Amino acid sequence: MNTLPTRVLKIDPTSPDPAVIHEAAALIRAGQLVAFPTETVYGLGANALDALAVDRIYQAKGRPATDPVIVHVQAAQQVAELTTHIPDVARALIDAFWPGPLTLVLSRGPRVPPNVSAGLPTVAIRMPAHPVALALITAAGVPVAAPSANLFAHPSPTTAQHVLHDLDGKIALILDAGPTQVGVESTILDISANHPRLLRPGGVSLDTLRRIVPEVEVVTRYVRADEGAVPAPGMLLKHYSPRAELRLFDGPDEAVRVALSQAAAELTRQGFHVGLLVADEDRAALSLPGVSLVSLGSLGDLSQVAQRLFAGLRDLDARGVDVILARAYPPAGIGMAIQDRLIRAAQGRVTYV
Ligand code: AMP
Ligand code: MG
Repeated sequence: MNTLPTRVLKIDPTSPDPAVIHEAAALIRAGQLVAFPTETVYGLGANALDALAVDRIYQAKGRPATDPVIVHVQAAQQVAELTTHIPDVARALIDAFWPGPLTLVLSRGPRVPPNVSAGLPTVAIRMPAHPVALALITAAGVPVAAPSANLFAHPSPTTAQHVLHDLDGKIALILDAGPTQVGVESTILDISANHPRLLRPGGVSLDTLRRIVPEVEVVTRYVRADEGAVPAPGMLLKHYSPRAELRLFDGPDEAVRVALSQAAAELTRQGFHVGLLVADEDRAALSLPGVSLVSLGSLGDLSQVAQRLFAGLRDLDARGVDVILARAYPPAGIGMAIQDRLIRAAQGRVTYV
């Protein structure tokens, strides 16, 4: 693949410089790729109405053509030009959660190129809550297709440095507004058929969603690549994976600490460089010689754990660990998204203690 000089421009997260936005928007209109911050993770943006530009997203990420991307809009009115039909429930959800980390899957309109949706008759749409993202989409004058700005199957990027690490030389520009707030991707809700289906837990929790759609069905599944057809996109078991093998430990706090400490000691004895991805409360029990420890925050503040999750995985990879032993978190609120990302990062290697 040809290499581009990838530029990184700093931009104020709350009042973005119009000159920088203008430059980024011109690149989007010219069919180029621009990485930009959203409140969830950094996105890799292209003109959603330009099939060739969208193709470049798949090429840059090494993403299979079977994995559709999300279209980002700057106003709810933009949804009409992207779909054939807006059900009443969509309006209620948009009123309640946009701008914000909720993606809606709707029937795809004729203006949206098929490769945006991996050929599906649906299209995933969201309005992000980040001022830089909103300014960019507005200035571009087109909806912006944007998956996470990482290499396929790697941990998602929550800083501009993460994007540069994965995509340097493959994209034109990265807008650097500092670390993202939510840290895990949007919740994906399919409302294209009669029954609303939660395809991916994310920044909007299931409980919050149920206030508007009490009947939502959770269909998140973990499918191995060799198991054949995947029931819906995004259900591959292996995703968000660090370079090091990740093993997840789930159970009561005390039992998890004992299991983590025993596994870390045993693997260290065997000559492996072990990384621990834990919470502040685990630190005291787990400061072991020769082991690299990263804490994601307090068990009492799962928002902070979510915010730091992907950076923690990348941090341990950068320290060159061979194996990462991680604790699980209670799957309530944002914890459901944390648990989902950890299970995929672990490719299903979960030990229940
Ligand atoms: P990313 O933004 O990188 O997390 O990737 C976008 C994800 O959105 C995909 O992996 C799918 O899980 C989901 N997605 C995008 N478009 C659709 C669609 N039309 N139907 C179902 N899921 C979708
Ligand atoms: Mg992604």
